Amino acid sequence: MDVHTRSQNTIKKKVTIKGIGLHSGNSVKLNFIPAPPNTGIIFKRIDLEDQPQIKAEVANVTSTKRSTTIGIRDVKVKTIEHLMAALRAFDIDNILIEIDSDELPALDGSAIKYVEVLRKAGLKSQDGNKDIIKIKNNLFIKSENTYLGIFPADKFKINYLLKYEHPKIGTEYLEYTFDKKSFIEEIMPARTFGFAEEIEELKRNGLALGGSLDNAILLKDDKVVNKLRFKDEFVRHKVLDLVGDLYLNGPIIGEIIAIRSGHKDNHKINQIIKKRGT
Ligand SMILES: [Zn+2]
Repeated sequence: MDVHTRSQNTIKKKVTIKGIGLHSGNSVKLNFIPAPPNTGIIFKRIDLEDQPQIKAEVANVTSTKRSTTIGIRDVKVKTIEHLMAALRAFDIDNILIEIDSDELPALDGSAIKYVEVLRKAGLKSQDGNKDIIKIKNNLFIKSENTYLGIFPADKFKINYLLKYEHPKIGTEYLEYTFDKKSFIEEIMPARTFGFAEEIEELKRNGLALGGSLDNAILLKDDKVVNKLRFKDEFVRHKVLDLVGDLYLNGPIIGEIIAIRSGHKDNHKINQIIKKRGT
């Protein structure tokens, strides 16, 4: 893999966002703070006594069940993918994120609130280069129902095929070439989705306690309960998650072919990219 570079970026000033954790239902506050070159994306659990820090990187991923969680020993930060996608949208490399809970806020189920708050913070170009990974070899993984491949290309491009039995989702396909403007306008507002029966089950098990029509598209029986923002909002959200997860390796150039893939597959391909090196 060739290494290309660009200059590093952080934010100009501190900004704050508040919300409710999807699973815990607890309120959570995030402070975004500028950080020096080569810091990376650092979460700091300010609710814990010694305020431990966890770097958002592939080696620190501890769970990919339903969302992407990073952790060191028993200290965790859950559901980082929507924020990671927003950081990718602005090419933010260095930032300190103070958090007073173990889970990021669900906000409106998309990443658009992160975009708004980061836009308010402003961008600052920094000394020091950031490597962009350019994929040179064909990489792919397969499981029983999923496929995820990344291939050499001149752009960052994603082809995603989603398929659900639910009549309102069915098959959706999106061919998307990444650029900042379209990513912010056409991908970042796409919300996560859930099935009513599944959510009831999750709630019985003490999960999805913060889940509501305000932070997810809800599918019940054969209907979509809330109004969709895009005709193909489901596949757009899958692209959002994928871009966010891949940003754990930093910026990448390559063409992705994804079939029904999720956080687990994203993590596996991240590990392969990481292991093969740049
Ligand atoms: Zn998501």
